[in-house]
Amino acid sequence: MVRVRFAPSPTGTLHIGGARTALFNYLFAKHHHGRFILRVEDTDRARLVEGSEQGMLQGLKSLGIVWDEGPDVGGDYGPYHQSERAARHKEALQQLLDTDQAYRCYCTADELAEERKRQEALKEPPRYSGRCRLRPADDPIHSSGLPFVVRMKVPASGVTVVDDLIRGPVTFENRILGDFVLAKSDGTPVYNFAVVLDDHDMAITHVIRGEEHLSNTPKQILVYQALNLAMPAFAHVPMILAPDHTKLSKRHGATSVEEYREQGILPEALTNYLLLLGWSPPEETEIMTLEQAAQWFDLDRVQHTAAIYDVKKLQWMNSQYLRLLPLSALAEDLQPFLQAQHIHVETGPDLEVAIGLVRERARTLVELAEGIAFLYARPETFETKGIEKHFQGEAPDRLRALADTLSELAQWNHDTVMEAYDKEALRLQVKRAELIHPSRLAVTGRTVGPGLFELLEVLGQKETVARLREAATALEEGRLMPTP
Ligand code: GLU
Repeated sequence: MVRVRFAPSPTGTLHIGGARTALFNYLFAKHHHGRFILRVEDTDRARLVEGSEQGMLQGLKSLGIVWDEGPDVGGDYGPYHQSERAARHKEALQQLLDTDQAYRCYCTADELAEERKRQEALKEPPRYSGRCRLRPADDPIHSSGLPFVVRMKVPASGVTVVDDLIRGPVTFENRILGDFVLAKSDGTPVYNFAVVLDDHDMAITHVIRGEEHLSNTPKQILVYQALNLAMPAFAHVPMILAPDHTKLSKRHGATSVEEYREQGILPEALTNYLLLLGWSPPEETEIMTLEQAAQWFDLDRVQHTAAIYDVKKLQWMNSQYLRLLPLSALAEDLQPFLQAQHIHVETGPDLEVAIGLVRERARTLVELAEGIAFLYARPETFETKGIEKHFQGEAPDRLRALADTLSELAQWNHDTVMEAYDKEALRLQVKRAELIHPSRLAVTGRTVGPGLFELLEVLGQKETVARLREAATALEEGRLMPTP
């Protein structure tokens, strides 16, 4: 049975690269009717960030990713916090020392820095020289009480090949790898060592992770071999780069799942966008559910060149989902944004109706909230350009005339309101547009927005009439506030 895992270190927020890796693992498991495991790699206690693990789990859940085994749900291969697997790491480390495949290294930080400087001067790749590798077992230093790290005895020659499922065989010269560290001087195992034992003991069949780990994989393979453990298959998914092909970072905008949520990107849209970063479906479609993606997903359609992050496409995807999702779901997603913008929807049009009115024009939940705000509060300011264009001359009289006519309508809907405008235009001998523009400005404070008759239908008769009159009076009394 296929068993894959996502193994975040709780040292920050859930980055979109991590979310994408988790998503690929999840889809791969689903596609092969296997299991998806979440393991929290919290061994490096110094780097732990308070609340990070909880935030990451929450972020994954928000994207619709569910795990079959993990720290919160348990499973047969626990514990799922790496720190709780320390005894096993220790035992394996001892095994490597006992079988002379690893050794204690007493070199100090200064000595190592010195060594690195020399290598740099000679333009050699930086790696440990192997000085302590040659110490005999009866070297008095072993009983000196001096701190030491444990290093792997990497074969001095030969190659280690990573048979990558996405990019094919990748060959590393052992000579270049150097004797890497397995455990730090306080005895804690480092990533490249602990990950091997955990993946093996959790019966992971496929390690699918970011390309940034490709150079770690030969080291891990050497550990598998030294301990005589069966190896999983490896697949390294492409990096996500910024449009300028540099590493994606803060200066390119939001990079964490949390930030996208705050910006009003729907989790469904983010998920859909992320799964296209490095993978393409076998059919000409970009909008798909996770279930559909799981049916299609396999590693053969994962590209090996970098995926380029494109915020415009993400926004496009988001506007597609704003149109697609049920109004009730959007109403729920919108709540925090309504709160942030102090929009109180208790008195005023039905929220779902309001959303239906403006969703075609919004790219984010922030814009959606902005778009419906006018329905729940009278405009306090009016677009300056609009005032210059639409509020001159006879505007107040016309607004008042419209208000009178509209107040008499027995039925209030798009068609009856439109008819009233047509009649009024005829009576006043003006084009309908000459009534529409000042009306929109009077009731919304803006010059653009949804179709006037649609929006008046939603706003309601009483409120429309009141706003038209209020704007007329404010205009006449010269106390109309332009938008700053
Ligand atoms: N904890 C590692 C990371 O977050 C896991 C890498 C792996 O998947 O092996 O980068």
